[in-house]
Amino acid sequence: MEKRFFIFLILSAVVFPGCSQEEQNGSVSLSVDPMRAFSYVKEIAEIGPRPSGSAGATKNVEYICDKLKSLNVDFSTDKWEENTPVGNIKFCNVVAEIKGEKSDFIILGAHYDTKLLQSVPNFLGANDAASGVGLMLAMIESIVKSAKIPHHTIKFAFFDGEECFMKYGPSDGLFGSRRMAGKISEEKAKCVAMILLDMVGDNDLNIEIPVGSDEKLAGQIFQAAEKRGKRKYFNWSRIGMTDDHTPFLNAGIPAVDIIDFNFGSSNLYWHSSEDSIDKISPENLGIVGDVTLEMIMNLEH
Ligand SMILES: [Zn+2]
Repeated sequence: MEKRFFIFLILSAVVFPGCSQEEQNGSVSLSVDPMRAFSYVKEIAEIGPRPSGSAGATKNVEYICDKLKSLNVDFSTDKWEENTPVGNIKFCNVVAEIKGEKSDFIILGAHYDTKLLQSVPNFLGANDAASGVGLMLAMIESIVKSAKIPHHTIKFAFFDGEECFMKYGPSDGLFGSRRMAGKISEEKAKCVAMILLDMVGDNDLNIEIPVGSDEKLAGQIFQAAEKRGKRKYFNWSRIGMTDDHTPFLNAGIPAVDIIDFNFGSSNLYWHSSEDSIDKISPENLGIVGDVTLEMIMNLEH
């Protein structure tokens, strides 16, 4: 009996580490399951190339929707056609929502399309872009399983068409994020932040937030990283970047890009056949997921 009671005490300590302390502080600390995130990234990469309008992109949408259904999360798809430098292309965004205490909302986004590369016909895009998508699914799973209610409502946007066909411009690249930012007008006052995850699975993790990202949000990421003991992985970049956060910044919404744009020595793995699952680290996916969860579950503004 005593022994059983002792085991119960140990299990309590293991299963609920720091839970009461966190709740006393009024903050919520959740973690992603790193191996779960990794398995999602692997399964998405295994779909094969996923450029906008391709059969692979459709399979990726089905994969995302299946996971959201199994987690019992509300979601919607937004399908449209658009003229691009390579002709008419069908696009599809998927947006999942977890209701918070407030109807004011945060958009957490990641693109799911992969770059159409003539030189790499079998481009798998494990980091660019399966990493962000797989990690977002694991984050949703973590929130759902915790049964915690976030302070803000969180919209999880799986963007199509981040990659440009020819050259970034008003009618090429960022198709999905431009679409969502363009439709947000009447709800804009309720959107407190847009946070982007892109290329977040590198074995050699070094998140560098591009210049031009919202400074207050970047500061909140650094604070969340400090709290999780992972501050060294998160820093400012010296350069700016056009990415799916840009249309939201242009719409006047505070936005920040969580990206590791140094993939392999001199970024040589980026948009190459080297962007494969062996370059992805479950542990590092977990670091980015935990810090982002820390931020979005407790964001004040
Ligand atoms: Zn890319």
